Amino acid sequence: MKALEERILREGTVLPGGVLKVGSFLNQQVDADFMMEMGQEIHRLFASEPVTKILTVEASGIALAMAAAVAFHVPFVFAKKAVTSNLNGQVYSAPVHSFTHNTDCRIFISRAFLSSDDCVLIVDDFLANGEAIRGMTALVEQSGARLAGAAVAVEKGFQPGGDELRRKGVHLESLALVDSMSDTEITFRR
Ligand code: 5GP
Repeated sequence: MKALEERILREGTVLPGGVLKVGSFLNQQVDADFMMEMGQEIHRLFASEPVTKILTVEASGIALAMAAAVAFHVPFVFAKKAVTSNLNGQVYSAPVHSFTHNTDCRIFISRAFLSSDDCVLIVDDFLANGEAIRGMTALVEQSGARLAGAAVAVEKGFQPGGDELRRKGVHLESLALVDSMSDTEITFRR
């Protein structure tokens, strides 16, 4: 998505450790109109799939998941990183290693919100090593739902997550695919 690539080039900064910061429009301050455009693009890319639910993980996937859910006219569900009292026991859960925080956690969703009748599209802001999407895929498997695929705003193609998902046959769409980045240059895969 050309507009996203241009925005990354204009506003993105590269931090040590291979982290791309796009907090001015994607995951701290949110450009809601632009988010909606990305949601429409995700809808276009998965229009042939009978998606009934969008799945993401808190917190930074939520804005894009909502934009995609608006485009598909379906609910979105976000996995939580802690069991709260309103999840009370009836949960699907999976382990996830956080790339940005370098910590291990589990993600949870209530069994009430995903079932074998669902066709699920996973949405997230970033794809790096693929841990977050692997965890969400496990939740989908536990529920018996069908996985339509996964859509991310930014895939960092120099990390293995995206290629692993493609090898497994998952339909993956990345709105911007960063091939390499340094503090002076960001290049995209065409
Ligand atoms: P993965 O689980 O694929 O290794 O990493 C994806 C998750 O880590 C995303 O949910 C995202 O929040 C975070 N993340 C990974 N790489 C980056 C990055 O370069 N920049 C930002 N802002 N978040 C990232």
